[in-house]
Amino acid sequence: MTGSKKYSYLHIVSLLVFLLSCTHARKVGSLPNSSPTSYYSAKDFALVEKFDTHIHLNTYDSHYIEQAKADNIRFLDIVDDRPFGIPMTEQEKIAIQQIKAFPGRVFYAATFPVKNYNSDDWQQQTIAKIKKAVADGAVAVKIWKNVGMDLKDSNGNFVMIDNPGLDPILDYLAKNKIPLIAHLAEPKECWMPLEHMVLNKGYYSQHPEYHMYLHPEYPSYEAHMKARDHMLEKHPDLTFINAHLGSLEWSLEELSKRLDKYPNMAADLARMTNLYLHAKNDWQKTRDFFIKYQDRLLYATDVQVAQTSDPTAMKKLAHESRMRYWTFFATDETLNEPNSIGEFKGLKLPREVVDKIYRRNAEKWLPGIK
Ligand SMILES: [Zn+2]
Repeated sequence: MTGSKKYSYLHIVSLLVFLLSCTHARKVGSLPNSSPTSYYSAKDFALVEKFDTHIHLNTYDSHYIEQAKADNIRFLDIVDDRPFGIPMTEQEKIAIQQIKAFPGRVFYAATFPVKNYNSDDWQQQTIAKIKKAVADGAVAVKIWKNVGMDLKDSNGNFVMIDNPGLDPILDYLAKNKIPLIAHLAEPKECWMPLEHMVLNKGYYSQHPEYHMYLHPEYPSYEAHMKARDHMLEKHPDLTFINAHLGSLEWSLEELSKRLDKYPNMAADLARMTNLYLHAKNDWQKTRDFFIKYQDRLLYATDVQVAQTSDPTAMKKLAHESRMRYWTFFATDETLNEPNSIGEFKGLKLPREVVDKIYRRNAEKWLPGIK
């Protein structure tokens, strides 16, 4: 058991004690008055409303959602057009059932298939699909990395996110104020040799088929970044949430440049280990980044929720992982990633900033969740 896990485990006990006893100190569900310089502590976790803007529900089970309720968190379940795991249509069925079963707790982002991209009526069919999804309750649309890394046009060229064939879809989203969530490209390390990787060596050594360094026939990392930037230039009215720190996880400077240049772009934080690494390498710079871009960053975990035969263990894991992120953002406690980056310190962001990245930005960038 690592120090941080041990901490989280002990915290469950202390949290329960706290929740039972705080009626004497202050009413459950209320917090002391805030000022711009005040901070949360670890024990405030359950009292603060939170929203995870990026998870994947791959089961009709409700265990994960029950724990989310206990942890005072709502979330966006994102449907993907991916070739592995459960098919997109099944993901969507699960999403629609879960938003009905847990209204106000679970929200969903739809997607659309690209396999018929080269057929004459693909744009029309796709817009019809998006209309139906919104009528079924979708609050956003997701586009996945198969655009840029798999899909090809009729001439055999890769279809990047700025391809004119996608413009009518993006125009439709912008016109109807439907946010687009985009996972484009991969971490930059995917284009590096294994020996230069810090965080992803294990994964890419197991999956050489996805290791772009070995596949120069695929678009370069720079080509992906350029295509995303070009798409943003073409669609300034699109509400654009770039997942995984915009695949600029390796450089807060590069991400800052885009946030400065494209006011319609927000970034989801589902590359937490990279944030830990930034905090380890330059704590002050990382904290300053969060304070400067406090209106543009969205709490996101990218958890894949599968069916489980051990709901108690699953709930415990979900809670511990949320506590870990909370500890990182809200406190300056020392955390540890023993298998990758070692020790680093939490950012201890002001309460107002924590409130924004944990909920208020989600409500602004995904208005359908209010
Ligand atoms: Zn995801």
